[in-house]
Amino acid sequence: EDEEVEAIASSLPSSSKSHADNRWGDTSSYASKKKVQSWFQLPHGDWELVKILSSSASESVISLSEGKVLKVKTDSLVQANPEILDGVDDLMQLSYLNEPTVLYNLQYRYNQNMIYTKAGPVLIAINPFKKVHLYGNNYIEAYKRKSIESPHVYAITDIALREMTRDEVNQSIIISGESGAGKTETAKIAMQYLAALGGGSGIEYEILKTNPILEAFGNAKTSRNDNSSRFGKLIEIHFSETGKISGAKIQTFLLEKSRVVQCAEGERSYHIFYQLCAGAPRILKEKLNLRAANEYKYLRQSSCFSIAGVDDTEQFRVVMDALDIVHICKEDQESVFAMLAAVLWLGNTSFSVIDNENHVEVVEDESLTTVAKLLGCSTGQLNLALSTRKMRVGNDNIVQKLTLSQATDTRDALAKSIYACLFDWLVEQINKSLAVGKRRTGRSISILDIYGFESFDRNSFEQFCINYANERLQQHFNRHLFKLEQEEYVQDGIDWARVDFEDNQDCLNLFEKKPLGLLSLLDEESKFPNATDLTFANKLKQHLHSNSCFRGDRGKSFTVNHYAGEVTYDTTGFLEKNRDLMHLDSIQLLSQCSCPLPQVFASNMLTQSEKSVTGPLFKAGGAESQKLSVATKFKGQLFQLMQRLESTTPHFIRCIKPNSLQSPGVYEQGLVLQQLRCCGVLEVVRISRSGFPTRMSHQKFSRRYGFLLLESAASQDPLSVSVAILQQFNVLPEMYQVGYTKLFFRTGQIGVLEDTRNRT
Ligand code: ATP
Ligand code: MG
Repeated sequence: EDEEVEAIASSLPSSSKSHADNRWGDTSSYASKKKVQSWFQLPHGDWELVKILSSSASESVISLSEGKVLKVKTDSLVQANPEILDGVDDLMQLSYLNEPTVLYNLQYRYNQNMIYTKAGPVLIAINPFKKVHLYGNNYIEAYKRKSIESPHVYAITDIALREMTRDEVNQSIIISGESGAGKTETAKIAMQYLAALGGGSGIEYEILKTNPILEAFGNAKTSRNDNSSRFGKLIEIHFSETGKISGAKIQTFLLEKSRVVQCAEGERSYHIFYQLCAGAPRILKEKLNLRAANEYKYLRQSSCFSIAGVDDTEQFRVVMDALDIVHICKEDQESVFAMLAAVLWLGNTSFSVIDNENHVEVVEDESLTTVAKLLGCSTGQLNLALSTRKMRVGNDNIVQKLTLSQATDTRDALAKSIYACLFDWLVEQINKSLAVGKRRTGRSISILDIYGFESFDRNSFEQFCINYANERLQQHFNRHLFKLEQEEYVQDGIDWARVDFEDNQDCLNLFEKKPLGLLSLLDEESKFPNATDLTFANKLKQHLHSNSCFRGDRGKSFTVNHYAGEVTYDTTGFLEKNRDLMHLDSIQLLSQCSCPLPQVFASNMLTQSEKSVTGPLFKAGGAESQKLSVATKFKGQLFQLMQRLESTTPHFIRCIKPNSLQSPGVYEQGLVLQQLRCCGVLEVVRISRSGFPTRMSHQKFSRRYGFLLLESAASQDPLSVSVAILQQFNVLPEMYQVGYTKLFFRTGQIGVLEDTRNRT
């Protein structure tokens, strides 16, 4: 396989250096090429490379690929790069950096299975939707030795590792992109590299095994992705001082729990349900009274039970093995499966109307008895919890019967809560198993795999939260790459023309401002028992109509002008989802169960309510638990996440979905372009190219390379030593600038010094 590595390395377009040389050395043919070739946008939106037959300032005659000749406006043509630049591995090397050249370059590489391309400091990864031979031990070894230099997740992960050690700063790898773009696969590839380089203790193996577990419980088939993550994830991997992995910690964000009780036609609920039904051994099946997936209402509603190419039975075995490896004991595993079965059977419970006010009681059938048995309560207790509510009126406790729709909501809320608690509990157990000892001396690399910006035909509370998170992440990205960069130049007295960049602070203010921001107004309205989604929508319009990022729409809708485009939200269900109330009766039921997990869940739900004294508390109806609103809790998590990321050196990977079919070999220009725009890749290239992305303090530079000096410098102060080093190594004046405190370099300049240093 090593030979294969070499072969691929040599088949890649030659490195940046030779391209640059050619580009500057061969200006005449370059100029003439420029005249004859150009980009022209066809009526359906795709760009085509056309020949220019003749041209004046206003009009040009061009010929299209199929020989058709057209007369067009000259300024509608966009300059193309010389062929020599086809497929460069960093967009920064393109002479003409415009949308069609970027699209073409990525497509050129994609067609040759070169799915990774740099855009300055950012790695672009295009989903191949097929197996590409770019991974495994030989490649890992090659990237470690640096015998391959083409862009790769391994390469960026390698940089993170080195910078962690060199700078003694924690690192983060921030992966973003649309659903199906390849974030989760990319995160796993990065983990694989870390495990290979930092492995040894065996804990790396456990860390890798968290993936199949979290995917089974947190991923589902959606219309966009057969293995879509329905939660956000940050995994922090810790290293000891010797560079070995010492442990890890996982944090999850906003699991989509509505999927447990409801999912769209053709989609599935969480994988684990189907895996359990298909793969549970006979004894377990009997114990849990398990049936086939199509016998459960929660799973049946979307008429989709299997995924092409996936064997749920086999996957169940993989998950069971993984649970063993992360030290979840057999007893706990069985409790987990019992909770899953309880959720499924809960969905099968039904109600019969007993009076003309639509009040109900639970039908006493196999579903009811099975749920009771699995939770460890009596059918009577369960029946009461699902069909009645205890209320306090004045000084009296009264029991109120529920209507059919109230009872159905109560049942579904219970099922969702059990599942969400189970998910959190599992993550907690995994974290215990992977915990770093008390002596946490080393450093860490965090990998963030979080849902990208979403804009659908109908956008609800989930998209609202997700897009808010993306707005924050985008600011982090902007700040890091643009703002900090410019500020640093200015502060250090470097001569560098300012470059404008998109700032999304206005949009963040729209969400976060108190008391008149989207989140505050949502919480406030959620506190009123009589408020409706319509009163909420009206309140937004009343208070935010003058905000430039906001537009009130007809009825219950409003539109936000996000950095990535406008999104119209339908407020239907916003209040209920934000309150996410769980009836005290249900919590009490769980706390009275004899099985261990329901009790843990109940106490977690109660502590969450008690803890939440600082945020807005809800007590609608008088008998529901008090808790933080979903949006406020999410905002808190997000702030904490941003704080953590701020203290790291970030590395960005932007995943791109080349088509909506999940098929290999199809590259839809419009779809790709829209994603490139959303993640600011074009801006990044423009800025990085004109700047000095590598920098080091005089002290650090002189300490790091001073020993390479052949003659000692005139003076021993760091600046003099630094200048002497630069002179000795003939670093060209246009390749660096000396600031007040730091040295600034163009891309690639430090490489020679590092190589010499490593050889010495
Ligand atoms: P979501 O936001 O829905 O979770 P995602 O961005 O995490 O989406 P993935 O689940 O990582 O997307 O990728 C979707 C599918 O694309 C994978 O199941 C796999 O089939 C394919 N894929 C992604 N990356 C690669 C890769 N590097 N090589 C081969 N196939 C890939
Ligand atoms: Mg994913």
